[in-house]
Amino acid sequence: MSQPFATRYPLVFVPGMLGFVRMLLYPYWFGILKALRKGGATAIAVQVSPINATEVRGEQLLLIIERIRRETGADKVNLFGHSQGALTARYAAAKRPDWVASVTSVAGPNHGSELADYLESHYPHGTARGRLLKAVLHALAHLMGWLETGWRGPSLPIDVHASHLSLTCAGVARFNLQYPQGIPLTWGGQGEPLVNGVRYYSWSGVLQDRRSNEGGNRLDGTHVSCRLFAKTFVREAGYCDGMVGRYSSHLGQVIGDDYPMDHFDIVNQSLGLVGKGAEPVRLFTEQAARLKAAGL
Ligand code: CA
Repeated sequence: MSQPFATRYPLVFVPGMLGFVRMLLYPYWFGILKALRKGGATAIAVQVSPINATEVRGEQLLLIIERIRRETGADKVNLFGHSQGALTARYAAAKRPDWVASVTSVAGPNHGSELADYLESHYPHGTARGRLLKAVLHALAHLMGWLETGWRGPSLPIDVHASHLSLTCAGVARFNLQYPQGIPLTWGGQGEPLVNGVRYYSWSGVLQDRRSNEGGNRLDGTHVSCRLFAKTFVREAGYCDGMVGRYSSHLGQVIGDDYPMDHFDIVNQSLGLVGKGAEPVRLFTEQAARLKAAGL
C-alpha cells in the first residue's frame, strides 16, 4: 500500500478561535485528516481554549505535545495551525524547538487581523457594545464546549478580552517581538524557513470574484460572513480571506498566498463547500508529502 504521507513525525492540528475537534459528529478539519491518514500519516486533531490569549493556548499545546511524544514515542511533532492556531503553534515551537519539527501556518494572522482591529474600535472593551459582543462570544464558546465530542480533558478557560488582544495588529506585533521565528523582515516578503531546527511554512487565500463566490460557496453562509468581514479591511483591502490579509499570513517559506479561498474554505468548511478552483485538501496532502521528503 502506498504511504505518501507517512511522515517521520506525527502531524498535529491546532484549530483557530472558536475551534473544535468534532462538534457532535462534525470535524473541524473536514475531510483533511481522513485524506492524510489514507496516505499513511499519523494525524491528530487537538483542542486548546477556544477563546483565549495565544500564550495561554500555547502553554496548553505544549502539554498536549508532551503527551503525544510520550504516547507515540516520537521525539517531535509537525504542527499545523489554522488562524489563531498558527500563532499557538508558533508559541509552542519558540518555547520548545526540540519538540517541534515544523510549523505550518494556514491562514494565520501572523501580523494580526484587520477584522480584530475593526472590532476593537467599533466594540471597545468596557462599553455596552463591547460587553454585548463579549457575552455573545462567551456563550458561543460554552455552547461549543458542550457539543464537543472529539476531545476529552479538563474544561478549558475562556477569556474573550485576552483573545481579542492576541489577534489585533498591535497585539500580534508585540507577540512577534517576543517570538519572531519565521516572521519576514519586510512586509510581503518570506521569513527564515528554518529557525532553531524548526521549519516554518505558510499558505493563505484571497476572496476572488467569480471564483471563491461560485461553486459550493453559493450554498455556504460562512462565505457571506467572510465577504462582509472583508469590508473592514483597509491596509489589505481586496487582498484578504475575510479575516486575515494576504501578507499578514506570511511566515517562513510562503507556499502560496492567493488561493481562491475564504478563511473557512481553507480548512474545507463548511462540509467541503468551497469556491471554484479551490482544493483545500490537496494543499494539506502536498504539504505532508513535502514534510516527508524533507525527512520530517
Ligand atoms: Ca466554504
